[in-house]
Amino acid sequence: MTERRTITILGATGSVGGSTLDLIERNAADYQVLALTAHRDVDGLAAAARRVGAERAVIGDESLLPGLRAALQGTAIRAEGGEDAILDAAAAGADWTMAAIVGCAGLRPTMAALRGGRTVALANKESLVSAGALMTDAAQASGATLLPVDSEHNAIFQCFDADRPAGVRRIILTASGGPFRTRSRDEMRSMTPAQAVAHPNWSMGAKISVDSATLMNKGLELIEAYHLFPLDAEGFDVVIHPQSVIHSLVEYVDGSVLAQLGAPDMRIPIAYALAWPRRMETPCERLDLVRIGSLGFEAPDLERFPALALAKAALREGGAAPAILNAANEIAVAAFLEGSIGFLDIASISAETLRCCTPQPPASIEEVLDIDREARAVAAGVKRRYLR
Ligand code: NAD
Ligand code: MG
Repeated sequence: MTERRTITILGATGSVGGSTLDLIERNAADYQVLALTAHRDVDGLAAAARRVGAERAVIGDESLLPGLRAALQGTAIRAEGGEDAILDAAAAGADWTMAAIVGCAGLRPTMAALRGGRTVALANKESLVSAGALMTDAAQASGATLLPVDSEHNAIFQCFDADRPAGVRRIILTASGGPFRTRSRDEMRSMTPAQAVAHPNWSMGAKISVDSATLMNKGLELIEAYHLFPLDAEGFDVVIHPQSVIHSLVEYVDGSVLAQLGAPDMRIPIAYALAWPRRMETPCERLDLVRIGSLGFEAPDLERFPALALAKAALREGGAAPAILNAANEIAVAAFLEGSIGFLDIASISAETLRCCTPQPPASIEEVLDIDREARAVAAGVKRRYLR
């Protein structure tokens, strides 16, 4: 018998974490789960840890540790709590780590995993947007393999000829357009959180679903792609493709364009990262092109979706701008989900925060975290003027 690969999942109770667990459970003989982490969902964490026989389960909110201990009673699973325990689990050297915490909260754990020099499957795009080259440099320094899980970046990764990058002219990210693709600004003004998270094609966590509705998600993904693939900022384009069948495309200098297609199921890109450099079976729906019939494409409308324009500007500006934009967006999306601001206010708060903050480009992860804190404080101040 070959040795089982050791696995850690950061953000195991989320949407990506759950899809990763599904694949692991279907192939239980191949994997040994070292650690699962979550923020507050004690029951979800304990149930998952029991199902996969994890060695430890870590809850970020330390006040919930007694509850986790109780939920794991009678098992050999070690219960731990607190941010440092998450960092410790991330650094414990699993062969393969899924970084699926949402938001900049995932930055330190993802960095801890990368510094271990093993394989890190990256779903947590906000950490790469905020820390950029600091993160890819750390991966290079430790010898870690960073595998993109975001469906677009995973598609590009599958189509990109990394040995001959000079042959690539352009990367085209596809976007579904989200639930408000055909809505006017006036209609968007009164859209509720429930309407915003009702994504037409993908089932995802609340924050990324709102980001998909504003198109901030595609903006964050442009910045993410810039850090993963060696092209200048002008080499990336976005096209709206409502069916979410083509997950992204790579155009070569000779005019050839390669694309990756598949059902909109995150288990496909996660499986690619889990089996890489091989392939594994998944239970995912097979693509039926005849049933789909036709594929549509549109240019993104930057006036109706100003968040995408903001992200493009932050990518061009570089330095601290992407981290500020990300932090402001996190504050605004949380406020929108709580019902305290309107849908259009998300981009307005992000734009104002970007104008108010002018820190130096970060030279370390600690400086990224300082910028993130400062931008959150500014965004919280800006937000007060938008409260309903
Ligand atoms: P989710 O909200 O469903 O899950 C988030 C996970 O992070 C949970 O396990 C939660 O407990 C944990 N978490 C949240 N805050 C935390 C904190 N402060 N400290 C520690 N842990 C914390 O989110 P998701 O939809 O699974 O997305 C996760 C990441 O993957 C995001 O960065 C998202 O942009 C990216 N992503 C998601 C999808 C998708 O289909 N859901 C697709 C592409 C990329
Ligand atoms: Mg994506």
